Amino acid sequence: EKENIRCLTTLGHFGFECLPYQLVNRSMQHGFSFNVLCVGETGIGKSTLINTLFNTNLKDTKSSHFYPNVGLKVLTYDLQESNVQLKLTVVKTVGYGDQINKEGSYQPIIDYIDAQFEAYLQEELKIKRSFKYQDTRIHVCLYFISPTGHALKSLDLLTMKRIDNKVNIIPLIAKADTVSKNDLQKFKNKIMSELISNGIQIYQFPNDDETTTGMLPFAVVGSTDEVKVGKRMVRGRHYPWGVLQVENENHCDFVKLRDMLLCTNMEDLKEETHVRHYECYRYSKLQKMGFTDVGPDNQPVSFQEIYEAKRLEFHDQCQKEEEELKKRFMQQVKDRETAFKDAEKE
Ligand code: GDP
Repeated sequence: EKENIRCLTTLGHFGFECLPYQLVNRSMQHGFSFNVLCVGETGIGKSTLINTLFNTNLKDTKSSHFYPNVGLKVLTYDLQESNVQLKLTVVKTVGYGDQINKEGSYQPIIDYIDAQFEAYLQEELKIKRSFKYQDTRIHVCLYFISPTGHALKSLDLLTMKRIDNKVNIIPLIAKADTVSKNDLQKFKNKIMSELISNGIQIYQFPNDDETTTGMLPFAVVGSTDEVKVGKRMVRGRHYPWGVLQVENENHCDFVKLRDMLLCTNMEDLKEETHVRHYECYRYSKLQKMGFTDVGPDNQPVSFQEIYEAKRLEFHDQCQKEEEELKKRFMQQVKDRETAFKDAEKE
């Protein structure tokens, strides 16, 4: 008898099973935003790679090698793929590695990252916060390593060391088509061991994906040109001896990078930025301003108590200064009076 019972499956979703769809719908309406920082020498292929990643031709001008200082160029684009909106902000270094004095090369980068954290903190501390606030904090730093096939440059180490607690770094070997397959693996190993021995913390993949981690740094090739391979048009670079297909995983790690950056980890990169890097900035900033969660007796103190204490401290200081001023004024009056009396006597 039991075998005659028909089991029906539901056609749609109902109840709280629908919760994820609410999130999807809301996100689609709001659109997404993503802020990328590209650090690398002039002409290393930053603009080309960004264009290849987002499948567009973002308007930009070529920069010269003769800037006296390193600068940053910030450009924002509104992109759309099917019905997903993306507000993409690309920050690129200009003149990086072109100066003789390398020390000054990383400071503008640090200043920029900090300025975005500061703007966010100020917005958070406002009484009337704007819900349309455009978050400009950098979610990922693509660090372009020159394809020397040899080792990292001191500038690379210096810069990465300075920014590794402020941003998620993903190291890339740029123009990887210029390094042979054998050299490439050796170069990758060398870079990773140098990063480790210098204590540089790069972005950790959340799912501990061994195959992805083993590929670091990603050896990438960028191109916006379409090349004919067989009967298909593919994005690639044409050489006298053949065609390098950007989206062929045997040719370079471009697809791996794109998957990892856009398909699997964009939300994690944003989350890390907020809970780790921004938190670190916020913590030290508030501490510098004299705020703390526990008093000297290890008892919790509230924000209000500290504020009140600071206010009293300031009040006392003002009063002291006022009294000092009064005293000085009285002394001056007295001095004048005696001088006047002396003159009168004479
Ligand atoms: P940027 O100054 O770092 O933004 O560099 P560009 O993206 O403007 O690239 C500078 C030059 O390098 C252009 O002529 C590109 O065609 C070339 N280029 C970009 N990517 C690659 C690559 O992956 N391999 C090779 N061989 N050349 C590239």
